[in-house]
Amino acid sequence: MVAMYEGIAHSQHPHPYSLLYWQILFKIYHRRFSAAPGVPMLVLLNSCRSGGMSKFLEQELVDRTYGVHDWPLYVMSSSQAERDAVVGGLWTSWFKRLVRLSPQAATAAGVDELGGEQQQQLPPPPPPPAEREQGMGEYFDAVADEYSAGHTYDLTNRLLASWQVPPDTDTDALMASLRQDCLHSGGRVDLDALERLVRDYAIRPRLTCIHCKRFSRGGSRDGGTPGGGLLCSSCERAWVQAGHTDPPAEAAAGGGAGDESERAVAQLLAVARQAEQATARPWAWRGTRSDVGERPLRQFLLGPGPDQIQAQPQPRADCKEAEEQQQEEEQVRGVTAFAADVGAEAKRQCLLVEAAGA
Ligand SMILES: [Zn+2]
Repeated sequence: MVAMYEGIAHSQHPHPYSLLYWQILFKIYHRRFSAAPGVPMLVLLNSCRSGGMSKFLEQELVDRTYGVHDWPLYVMSSSQAERDAVVGGLWTSWFKRLVRLSPQAATAAGVDELGGEQQQQLPPPPPPPAEREQGMGEYFDAVADEYSAGHTYDLTNRLLASWQVPPDTDTDALMASLRQDCLHSGGRVDLDALERLVRDYAIRPRLTCIHCKRFSRGGSRDGGTPGGGLLCSSCERAWVQAGHTDPPAEAAAGGGAGDESERAVAQLLAVARQAEQATARPWAWRGTRSDVGERPLRQFLLGPGPDQIQAQPQPRADCKEAEEQQQEEEQVRGVTAFAADVGAEAKRQCLLVEAAGA
């Protein structure tokens, strides 16, 4: 096992052999696609910064040297490279969707129609045919969209923290409009819609303390305002302790009122772009010159459905030679699926990735 860690600078880590390094993943990918270039591989990564485990694959030099975009490799990560977050609930949705696609779910749906007391325990009805044949890319996008739609609070919190909303604003209407019109699927901000919202509601950037420029302006709580409403409470205390009784001089703003309003809009849009960047969201890498993204996930993981088995018998199952060949291939493949933080059933499903892929 230690051989896996050869060539990795791990001396600074106290327990390096408990860590998975991207170099190890790359060795697995490389070995596997050298032995079986046409067999797809699906990898699920669930950790903080898990997108970083695929970052090297994005380098042009790596593609030129190893042809990584020819690999039928799809890596789904719980978050981007730079985010210290595991996006909670993503894999729950992922596996729930998968359960719906299983042939058992289709059978159960027949029972479901009969209703009765058992209905609560039965899996949800199977999805329409289009969803059943969804490619890996479409499947991931759908789960990521579902996640983003249910987790807009991080983004909205970041936006609201930068806003100064006029006192008589209908906040419910504002929030509804923000969520419906400005936040796209996949955790994206529609900047045109946001600009309209900012203008319609006369939102201004939250004013920061003119001294530290970090905290919001507060003002004295004991009635007197030696800070003149221009300082945060901490800076105001320091201002008073230094013996001042008059407010500090405010830096003169350049330009007229019209310019100021435009600057405010531009500033809020810049904050929105930063917020979008800073929000953790599912992230994926795929070999773009391969057809891995279009391969139906259900068939890849669960094998052909009952309808397809009837229409098109699979010779591999009855053929001893093919079976042996498959076993051989499986030995070459090594570890290909990582799905920490999911149940035993889910792990079992995930490991099926390989068996069904040949
Ligand atoms: Zn301050």
